[in-house]
Amino acid sequence: MGRTIAVVGAGPSGFYVAAALLRADDHVRVDILERLPTPYGLVRSGVAPDHPKVKTVVRAFERTARDPRCRFLGNVELGRHLQLDALLAMYDQVALAVGAPAPKMLDIPGSSLRGVHPAAHFVGWYNAHPDHAGRRFDLDILDIAVIGMGNVALDVARILSSPVERLATTDIHTPALRALARGARHRIHVLGRRGPVQAAFTPKEVQEIAAMEGVALRARPAEVELDPASARWLEERGTRSQRRNVEIVRAAAAAHPRQVRTEVWLRFRVSPVAFLGDEQLAGITLDHNALVERGGRIVARPSGHREQLACGAAFVAVGYRPAPIPGVSLDPRLDHVPNRRGRVLDENGQEIPDLFVVGWARRGPRGLIGANRADAAEVARTMLALPVQRPASVRDPLPELERRTRVVRWADWEKLDTMERTAGEREGRPRVKFAQVETMLDAIDRGKPSASD
Ligand code: NAP
Repeated sequence: MGRTIAVVGAGPSGFYVAAALLRADDHVRVDILERLPTPYGLVRSGVAPDHPKVKTVVRAFERTARDPRCRFLGNVELGRHLQLDALLAMYDQVALAVGAPAPKMLDIPGSSLRGVHPAAHFVGWYNAHPDHAGRRFDLDILDIAVIGMGNVALDVARILSSPVERLATTDIHTPALRALARGARHRIHVLGRRGPVQAAFTPKEVQEIAAMEGVALRARPAEVELDPASARWLEERGTRSQRRNVEIVRAAAAAHPRQVRTEVWLRFRVSPVAFLGDEQLAGITLDHNALVERGGRIVARPSGHREQLACGAAFVAVGYRPAPIPGVSLDPRLDHVPNRRGRVLDENGQEIPDLFVVGWARRGPRGLIGANRADAAEVARTMLALPVQRPASVRDPLPELERRTRVVRWADWEKLDTMERTAGEREGRPRVKFAQVETMLDAIDRGKPSASD
């Protein structure tokens, strides 16, 4: 009989590593354990609702889930329903595919003011993630800051500036759609600490904002001018994306302002140093930066010149790190689980027998969904090449898991999926998502949605 493997986390990395394991060894059996009753991780709760094409990747994940040697076991939470040592005892090997869901925040005064939000909470909210679906955001605000210049920052800026008709045909969380409709007009300030060459967004995403009805992409001519170090860098080492980004922001700075509903300002070489306000955010103090080359990298250095930006809401989109994983020691300086080629390390740097990590949890929160595929293939190879050090103590862990929680099986998820799609059809949307775990479990058992979700 082949080895039994638990993959913890049913996001893209979880499915990719499960698929790679099943493909590589005909005898291996894989259980994908997931905290929520629903699969797909960031594909369901991170990818923006107006990017449905990106979500079509789930078709490949469905094929994996239907493989007779693979089981989806939802509503099973590591650290709550079972501890890591119990899991390692139940399976021959365990792969953590738990992502990096904890938002990084800025350690500056005023971070706890009302109106300062991690972008991750906003993204989870508009995507109906059960952890965030009940949040409230006051969006009836003209000036809104988005801190960071990656694709998450641009997702937030785009959702805030989207015409509501554009969102009304998506699977966006219904309360989010209503709240976004109320605050239709904005001036959005996307704040990057470095220059246009170092912007972390991709050309496609920034162009999408520029192309939106009633929206103008704006930039200040002085801020899109390249400093000597960045100009040299672009000339010698610039990628196609970086060159294209520079062209796009230059065009935005040169464009004549037109009457629009929403302006999205890309601001460069500015670092927030304090959030201002009594209880409610009223503004941000920005330090203007100079860019200098240090150790082969272009870094921001404060120039001493300051500015106050008035704004009533701020979304912090400066990256993520893994959430605490009971039984795994995290290094607060790292944005990933300490590992050696996918083998999880303990606090002494020793490999923990039979425990692996994959995806964003292994590499840090970087790269598009597809980037996790190669990573998963590599970790799967490592797993299968190593002998099992402590074989599983049970033939089948499922009865034990069922004693601890209401395990949601793939057929249960298919019921939820059908109910969501049916509700969506009535509203001309791809689906209306369940947003609470309790109502999901209730709907699975009763075969129809309850009124409270
Ligand atoms: P990211 O691409 O790493 O961008 C993080 C941004 O935050 C960077 O501009 C970074 O600036 C800035 N930042 C970090 N620390 C900061 C600080 N202390 N002060 C000010 N700014 C700071 O991360 P992300 O936006 O969270 O995205 C994560 C990954 O998911 C990326 O690979 C992204 O492409 C992907 N993603 C893709 C899409 C899409 O394709 N539509 C959507 C969402 C996410 P520095 O460069 O100066 O550090």
